[in-house]
Amino acid sequence: DELISQIAAGEVVERPASVVRELVDNALDAGATQVTLRLLAGGVRLVCVEDDGCGIARAELPVALKRHATSKIASLGDLESVGTMGFRGEALAAIASVSELSLLSRTAEESSAYLLDARSGELRPAARSVGTTVEVKELFFSTPARRKFLKTDSTELAHCVEAVRRHALARPEVGFAIWHEGRLVEQWRATPRWEQRLADVLGADFLEASVAVDWRAGPLRVWGRAGLPDAARARGDQQWTWVNGRYVRDKVLAHAARSAYEDVLHGQRQPVYALSLEIDPAQVDVNVHPTKIEVRFRDGRAVHQVVRHAIENALAAPRA
Ligand code: ADP
Ligand code: MG
Repeated sequence: DELISQIAAGEVVERPASVVRELVDNALDAGATQVTLRLLAGGVRLVCVEDDGCGIARAELPVALKRHATSKIASLGDLESVGTMGFRGEALAAIASVSELSLLSRTAEESSAYLLDARSGELRPAARSVGTTVEVKELFFSTPARRKFLKTDSTELAHCVEAVRRHALARPEVGFAIWHEGRLVEQWRATPRWEQRLADVLGADFLEASVAVDWRAGPLRVWGRAGLPDAARARGDQQWTWVNGRYVRDKVLAHAARSAYEDVLHGQRQPVYALSLEIDPAQVDVNVHPTKIEVRFRDGRAVHQVVRHAIENALAAPRA
């Protein structure tokens, strides 16, 4: 089982940023309103994620580390309509198999928090307010071959920050803070306004050099910001897309966006945009890849058409 976990870990955990992504997923699934990350050495020596979510009951702590012991899906049918970020129940088990992991958690019903050390299995009372702290130390310490593939601390840190940015852009109502080696590197305060979060995370320049996208076609909705040519100068050539709140990289979406830019702003090769697609969950398969970063649409043509129209419409609209 240890071996199976380590193999699964290879698919889920590539670098510290993969740990960050999974732990922040879990914090958001737990209903956190504030998520704080503490990193050492680009996350290789420590990724610690603290949240104020619902917590994990004492009896559930050991269960949370078992493979496929997710609390989030009750049946295979649920896979069709997953509303939570996590649903495979293998992230914590996988991470624990390639690191020194501990869970410190407290629910509202309990008078104490409990700390579980994954390696020793020791479970003891500890102190903290309601919520969860997951500590992941010395990633890949037992698999030096894997550790060798990691880049410099500053590169790994940049990947970690990008992993949080993808969550932060999708969830403005949640506050995020990232500390590295005791220094605050990013802080995004909770806000009810998505545009505010966008300006906080990507810069006011990007917001100014972009247009609003908001397009509905039946049950599909595409919304966000599409960068004008100046946006690339403000923000490099980055594209962010989410499907039902989950960050994804998808060929259909990327191609639709590229076509729209080619049509309206001829020659704009590397457009910058941040776009969300809302779609009936039954129309999209999120269970394609262990990291859940890829999706498959039932009707890719329809999605392509709507996304392309949405962006073309926004780019072509007269601007003040
Ligand atoms: P999944 O998210 O796919 O269910 P994980 O391995 O990521 O699987 O987590 C296992 C379980 O541990 C979750 O289903 C959840 O019950 C619990 N859990 C993990 N992290 C947290 C957290 N930050 N707050 C509350 N519960 C958590
Ligand atoms: Mg999870």
